[in-house]
Amino acid sequence: MSKRSIAQDSPAALDAVVVGAGITGIYQLHRLKEMGLSVALYEDGAGVGGTWFWNRYPGARFDSESYSYGYFFDEQLLQEWDWKELFASQPEIEQYLNYVVDRQSLRPLIHSNTRVVGAFFDEDTALWTVTLGTGESVLTKYLVSAVGILSAPFTPDIPNHELFRGEMHHTGRWPQTPVSFKGKKVAVIGTGASGVQIVPVIAGEVETLTVFQRTPNWATPLNNRPISAEEMAEIKATYPAIYEKVSQNKSGLPHDADPRSAFDVTEEERLEKYEALWNSPGLRKITENFRDTELDSKANTMFTEFLEKKIRSLVNDPSVAERLIPKDHGFGGKRPPFEAGYFEAFNRENVSLVDMRADPIVTFTEQGLNTVKGHHEFDIIVLATGFDAGTGALLRMNIHGREGLSLADAWKDGPRTLLGVMVPGFPNLLIAGGPHGTRGNVPRSSEMHVDWISDLINFTEQKGSKWIEPTPEAADAYTAHVYETAGGGKHGSTQASAWYNGGNIPGKANHFLLSPDPHPEYRRRAREVADDGYRGVTFA
Ligand code: NAP
Repeated sequence: MSKRSIAQDSPAALDAVVVGAGITGIYQLHRLKEMGLSVALYEDGAGVGGTWFWNRYPGARFDSESYSYGYFFDEQLLQEWDWKELFASQPEIEQYLNYVVDRQSLRPLIHSNTRVVGAFFDEDTALWTVTLGTGESVLTKYLVSAVGILSAPFTPDIPNHELFRGEMHHTGRWPQTPVSFKGKKVAVIGTGASGVQIVPVIAGEVETLTVFQRTPNWATPLNNRPISAEEMAEIKATYPAIYEKVSQNKSGLPHDADPRSAFDVTEEERLEKYEALWNSPGLRKITENFRDTELDSKANTMFTEFLEKKIRSLVNDPSVAERLIPKDHGFGGKRPPFEAGYFEAFNRENVSLVDMRADPIVTFTEQGLNTVKGHHEFDIIVLATGFDAGTGALLRMNIHGREGLSLADAWKDGPRTLLGVMVPGFPNLLIAGGPHGTRGNVPRSSEMHVDWISDLINFTEQKGSKWIEPTPEAADAYTAHVYETAGGGKHGSTQASAWYNGGNIPGKANHFLLSPDPHPEYRRRAREVADDGYRGVTFA
């Protein structure tokens, strides 16, 4: 594609704007730059990394294997980068992403500290006006969102938060200046993956730590370890095979599904398998479990009985152990966290657990928090309260398509997309790593979108079209497919309150927000659309 091929009628316009410098946006920027487009990336954060910039709380790290999470598009990068740990920590990940940005000479195209606050499509010029928090605006032909599905932090509406005189930090907006916990009275509200990661890391540093738990989760050991030089050499030598494996895996992970039913084996074999899973790294407890653990309630209960025993063996006080055992959902009913010393942290004298079902938080005070049963004084309150997942980050961008239609209105009944990537009424808006398209290992999921989007832009430019938009019929058919598929099997048994059903946000409509398709199936579906001349896409 020739340079400056696009938007020639409007020389002030860029070919493309990418929003978000996370792992998805960086790859999207690289692809568009390689295609010779004029492109700029806008990022709210002071640096690159997206999730891995903002979630810099102590203990933040991957729970997908590092070597399956990084980029695969650059052979030299694969050979140059040494992952230090099986599950890299936030500082290492941030360092990696900065390394990639510099290696690909992307930094001059990235505008950090620049939030996109609005985007308006003009039908006469077929351009987007993207308004920035700086007060400036830019014109672009293509607007590519890479804002992620877990990036708009959710803060519960606990009364009088402005009264609190201490420090308060959301895990998803952690400050760049390190927070000193030494000798402090600390509260952690929330016991999802983020809360479970931070608790054991700060427990030894703080004077007291009070964990406010509303719903316990089925946390299991992450089993992290360093990657030796020999192992890294072996990984480097086998990257093509690793990529083939993650591409074939339904969640984009380098794991081997177990075709057996939990009822195919003897009790002894079953317990041996559970023990092996407990000792296995990260998400394998889900992906390598018996095929029916998440599908069959009896099989699920057999596994959770095993987990209950583990929790009871790790926590000294039986009443605390009991409160840490989930009662309202089975394993996989909500996205389980992975822990490193979480349960043992409750054996420390300085760590206590408040069960918010029995003793809810009523209000902030100047010194801390009032619960129904009493007052708790804190120097620091950590909100590990999650995200307005899937749609939150997209909708707060204030996007308006044809005839001034806002994306918030267009999606009032939930996302309506073709492949999670294109939205009827929003020409030339392309979404990488968004709702109804993303699942499992996020970089492996969103790279499918980035590649598809880049090819589509190329195709559109070859055709000389001014704008592209999915037909309402194509978007409706895909959206119906999402809900039909998600309604059956595994997702039918998930908790409505899970973030990927929108249920963690008060008042948010319950809709399944992920891609229901295993990665190979999503790829096949997307390829089929492309091979059929982008069936369901209108070229104007
Ligand atoms: P989350 O799973 O949504 O957990 C939020 C926690 O805050 C829950 O315990 C929730 O309780 C609690 N909470 C929400 N509103 C509350 C309120 N009004 N009062 C009291 N408690 C409240 O969020 P997260 O832990 O940030 O994790 C979100 C997702 O991000 C994870 O599932 C995972 O996909 C991803 N993540 C990944 C990693 C990793 O890869 N290593 C690390 C962190 C996060 P209820 O359960 O009762 O609603």
